[in-house]
Amino acid sequence: MIHYTLQCGQAHAFDGWFASGAAFDRQVTKGLVACPVCGGVDVERGLMAPSVSRKGNAREVAPAKSVAVTPNQMPDQMRVALQRLRAEVERRCDYVGENFAEDARRMHEGELPARAIYGETTAEQAEALADDGIAVARIPWVPRADG
Ligand SMILES: [Zn+2]
Repeated sequence: MIHYTLQCGQAHAFDGWFASGAAFDRQVTKGLVACPVCGGVDVERGLMAPSVSRKGNAREVAPAKSVAVTPNQMPDQMRVALQRLRAEVERRCDYVGENFAEDARRMHEGELPARAIYGETTAEQAEALADDGIAVARIPWVPRADG
């Protein structure tokens, strides 16, 4: 099972468990994943990317305000900017999937060499990281420009 932090078009955050990433995609496409608050089925996955700082160079990062826009309601310029951001993250960062929180923590502790990673976390994991001064950023994950 995979645990995803999800968000609906009304910016309600909630958790979902799925057999696999593909199963999640299938269920969302069929409108089977509904927000428990408003019943909305325009659901997308929260995705975390860290800003990795080397040891001794840590900086305080204020918690980001959460702003939600669904991709189909997004102005074109914004979608293009977010697609560029996604492309940059995919090009420059290593995808670690569900290991994100653990890897980010181990890098912070110096157990793993610092590198730029991205992947999924739960809201609880993200909060725990923030509590321990480990900077991560939640970024909107729009569909790729090429499909
Ligand atoms: Zn909702």
